[in-house]
Amino acid sequence: MKLILLGPPGAGKGTQAQRLVGKYGLVQLSTGEMLRDAVKAGTVLGLQVKDIMARGALCPDDVVVGIVEERVEQPDARKGFILDGFPRTVPQAEALDRFLAGKGLSLDAVIELRVDEQALLRRIETRVAQMRARGEPLRDDDNAEALRERLRAYRKLTEPLIAYYRQRGLLRTIDGMAPIPDVTAAIDQVLSAASVAAEDKPKRVASRVKPLAAKAMTRKSPKRGGTAGSRTGKDKMALRKPSARWRPSPA
Ligand code: ADP
Repeated sequence: MKLILLGPPGAGKGTQAQRLVGKYGLVQLSTGEMLRDAVKAGTVLGLQVKDIMARGALCPDDVVVGIVEERVEQPDARKGFILDGFPRTVPQAEALDRFLAGKGLSLDAVIELRVDEQALLRRIETRVAQMRARGEPLRDDDNAEALRERLRAYRKLTEPLIAYYRQRGLLRTIDGMAPIPDVTAAIDQVLSAASVAAEDKPKRVASRVKPLAAKAMTRKSPKRGGTAGSRTGKDKMALRKPSARWRPSPA
């Protein structure tokens, strides 16, 4: 299962990604975390992005694409991954499509967590207050000015991805204002539906590539009605409705 969690800062992407990791054994690929680690470690990359991140602006596309591509190739990502914070621009999404295709992979779903902006500001203020109370160091970009810039960058550069993935039939929008377990349940439903569609994909390709074999199959099973290329009403429902067919193995 290969997923993208899409949403503004404070939408709950990190929280939900962690729940999915625990439940399904997917790895969470958070570009924010990777970049913060690089800054902490003082690597060349870290030095390059430190000030950009502190301002709340976006790091250069090629830098971020490079680290994600490398990370996706690690063995632990083979079972599946959740991209959290990537892609954040249309060129990043295009690069992702290209490099996944090059590895024979494709996305299963893009989950948009929709939240209202006032709630975002409150959530981030709460997170900062809790971190302060626990004596944890704050992020360099957890201040009012950087936060404004992060939201501005989201609206201008990341929001167009909603249309990008809608056009590709991958977008699933979830109410991110709902309580955390309800958001998780809604994501579970999306994953079940996406996995049914993924199971179905090779059949569709096969029917396109080998029309003769597909015809032979329908002759052998007249009860199904229609050709292999035209789905029955029941099949169509299965694509739309979450199904109990997919049961991910726990981590
Ligand atoms: P947020 O809480 O704003 O969702 P993240 O932890 O995802 O934060 O990202 C923190 C910062 O890291 C961003 O403001 C940006 O500077 C940088 N960053 C993370 N992911 C990307 C990306 N895909 N493209 C460009 N910059 C990124």
